Amino acid sequence: MADQKRDYYEVLGVNKNATDDELKKAYRQLAKKYHPDANPDNPKEAEAKFKEVSEAYEVLSDKQKRAMYDQFGHEGPQGFGGGNPGGGYYSYSTSGFDGFDDLGDIFSSFFGGGFGGKTSRARANGPIKGTDLRYNMDITFEESYLGVEKEIIVNKYDECSTCHGSKAKPGTTVEKCSMCGGTGQIKQNVTILMGMQMQTTKTCPHCNGEGKVIKEPCPECKGKGKIKKQVKLKVKIPAGIDDNQMVVLRGEGEPGTNGGPKGDLYVVIHVKKHSIFTRKGDHVLCNIPITFTQATLGAELEIPLVDGSKEKYRIPEGTQTGTQFTIRGKGFPSRNRSWDGDYIFTVIVQTPKKLTSEQRELLLKLANTMNEQPPVKKKGIFG
Ligand SMILES: [Zn+2]
Ligand SMILES: [Zn+2]
Repeated sequence: MADQKRDYYEVLGVNKNATDDELKKAYRQLAKKYHPDANPDNPKEAEAKFKEVSEAYEVLSDKQKRAMYDQFGHEGPQGFGGGNPGGGYYSYSTSGFDGFDDLGDIFSSFFGGGFGGKTSRARANGPIKGTDLRYNMDITFEESYLGVEKEIIVNKYDECSTCHGSKAKPGTTVEKCSMCGGTGQIKQNVTILMGMQMQTTKTCPHCNGEGKVIKEPCPECKGKGKIKKQVKLKVKIPAGIDDNQMVVLRGEGEPGTNGGPKGDLYVVIHVKKHSIFTRKGDHVLCNIPITFTQATLGAELEIPLVDGSKEKYRIPEGTQTGTQFTIRGKGFPSRNRSWDGDYIFTVIVQTPKKLTSEQRELLLKLANTMNEQPPVKKKGIFG
């Protein structure tokens, strides 16, 4: 992948936080500037620039594509083997298609081939990868912490089991298209300016670019080669996955065309909010209420961990409200580093609202021994 592409934001001359309007404005200006018609002296260079600008705009103006680009860049996701610490990406196969050699393809294929010619249909009847699918999955905070295996049901086109994708009724023959000779395309001479002739190709109307003609279509799929099915799949969600990260099931998208590979299924993870825990990086954060006597005298606390277990933790006497304590290694398992996140809790001192008469009496006694309001601390000039 020696593809030295410029950063899309750089191409459009906008910053990473550019709004849709800013993108549109930048694109319009540049598209005008580099339009081949406006650059008769160096049309080749202008065309290349024009394409670059259009490609950048196509990606950045689409929310989903932009998010993918921000996450993975040009070359696609490469979060494997510790290569890219920022990427949130898991990939595995349920169909034995396990090599990651072609990971770079995922980025372009995910975009449905609208990618500046990179995946354009070189030949109308050449192999085309099947459509990639997206599935949104909600999981709980605990599931993201521990990992989970879930069964999902996906509605998708799958290869027709009667004709195995050939589109023809089993036992019948498929003939080469006589109009295009099997190429799926027809060459045409078109007259352009001042009598100049140019050759263009168009999709063969007789076979719709397939290059072959089916005499008897498969009755099961009505000649489509694929059939809409409900498919049950098991998805392994690894421990430590974060909100908006993806698990990719390679080959579980829709079937390819003309012998092209199957698409992939992208399971996008949404982690539900937890009532007491939050996540920051690989750390787990939690507020722990304590009484003012615990804060004053020190105490051994029972800290609830995400996996359901409890950890004893001794806080010292004179602990102030808002103090943070860290239990090392009890945060999320880390995928990118060799150490796990921490569990960080903040103690919040609760002032009692109701007291028994005995408690009140004891407190009054205490109050008499320390009945002065502490002095207001002076701050420096600059606070
Ligand atoms: Zn069929
Ligand atoms: Zn044809």
